[in-house]
Amino acid sequence: MHIPFDNSYVRLPDHFYARLDPTPVAAPKLVRVNTALAEQLGIDPDELTSPDGVAVLAGNRVPPGAEPMALAYAGHQFGHFVPRLGDGRAVLLGEVVGRDGIRRDIQLKGSGPTPFSRRGDGRAALGPVLREYLVSEAMAALGIPTTRTLAAVTTGQTVWRETMLPGAVLTRVAASHIRVGTFQYFAARDDADGVRQLADYAIARHYPNAAAAEQPYRAFLDAVIARQADLIARWLLIGFIHGVMNTDNCSVSGETIDYGPCAFMDAYDPTTVFSSIDHQGRYAYGNQPRVALWNLARLAECLLPLLEDNEKAVQDALGAFAPRFQAEYFGGLRRKIGLLTDREGDDNLTQDLLKLMAEDGADFTLTFRRLCDAAEAPVGNAAVRTLFKDTAAFDAWTGRWYARLTLEVAPAAAMRAVNPAFIPRNHLVEAALAAAVERADFQPFEDLLGVLSRPYHENTALERYTMPPRDEERVLHTFCGT
Ligand code: AMP
Ligand code: MG
Repeated sequence: MHIPFDNSYVRLPDHFYARLDPTPVAAPKLVRVNTALAEQLGIDPDELTSPDGVAVLAGNRVPPGAEPMALAYAGHQFGHFVPRLGDGRAVLLGEVVGRDGIRRDIQLKGSGPTPFSRRGDGRAALGPVLREYLVSEAMAALGIPTTRTLAAVTTGQTVWRETMLPGAVLTRVAASHIRVGTFQYFAARDDADGVRQLADYAIARHYPNAAAAEQPYRAFLDAVIARQADLIARWLLIGFIHGVMNTDNCSVSGETIDYGPCAFMDAYDPTTVFSSIDHQGRYAYGNQPRVALWNLARLAECLLPLLEDNEKAVQDALGAFAPRFQAEYFGGLRRKIGLLTDREGDDNLTQDLLKLMAEDGADFTLTFRRLCDAAEAPVGNAAVRTLFKDTAAFDAWTGRWYARLTLEVAPAAAMRAVNPAFIPRNHLVEAALAAAVERADFQPFEDLLGVLSRPYHENTALERYTMPPRDEERVLHTFCGT
């Protein structure tokens, strides 16, 4: 089993992590290897699916060149600071530089207890592992920065959650696992050297341009803020709800990370919450920009000692979040309805549509996808119209929209490139997980994964995957991945 490791985080001081091997499992069995991703990383997918490879993916065998460790980090969980979280159920095997020249972490999640496990068992259940596989790969196919899934294996052991569940290990691939909470870990210990070493490492790895700036740490902060603003705008534009935007789940690289009780919205409602542990709606769909900014303020606090004229620097840096987010979000909304040139009143048009959608509970994904057909030819308008209750108000809106569309060239094709037909709808995800967990039937998972790999390519044979849940299929909560 050859993985071309090239490790760098392990060269950081040894209080940044705890070195330990994954804990072997009883009977590893492959669920799936992500062949395309393996190839991109320079790993032979056939080796990964061999018994030797499966032993590696289960944590039963440490491959040559791996230097396994659990990373230290802290974090605000639902607003409460926890000075020591860390990888309680994951080990970083090492890093590889892919064919695209990008360095990525390879991590086993669910690989057994570590010094950071607190009272947890260090393991993951099959359902959450498959959810992370489906949703992270769907996000990647949608073009949204995200950690990826290289593989999933079952362990042949059970884990005890509210009930006995089959255990599994997910192999996660990430630009890095540096979180806002990683900075907080050192800042909370008044470890100024640690903060600086981590910042230097993050700059070198993710923001090399910042190193050349007049004030590298300020440039770093600005760059992280810009990437988060872009990321959250992208989430909102496809109806994604992360569910647990704690500072330890906020990646400094700008990738979506830590898929727990995440979900996509069906009917448009900005107050939508799925996570069963989010009682106050802190991480509701429409609250995500505010929370991201709050998380970034925690990062800025950690960097204060490194910044010149620091109070003002932090204020200016954080002040750039809202305009950046708004430009991305409103620009994205305009593109979703085919407005490719900038005109007076365009934002009113997008906002009025969202207002109608919210009032009538119109399905977010389906509305925008069907508007593509309506943009193609007025006859296509009939299908999207059925999603609205107040058809008079909708007709008034489409009247304005059609008038505006005459100023655009071929808007329908551009719209189809940004409005997915297929998202990991919650009821489909739950059904795929249930089949795997309750009946060891992985076919629905495989089928759904295939559909989600081409989210913008409509296919009439797959129409059921585009549809919102019927009342009895509706999923109200998803549970935390732990
Ligand atoms: P998460 O909710 O996955 O973002 O995890 C929050 C913290 O809890 C992290 O420090 C995790 O490593 C830790 N954690 C989550 N699940 C477990 C588990 N089953 N065993 C040990 N630690 C866990
Ligand atoms: Mg986490």
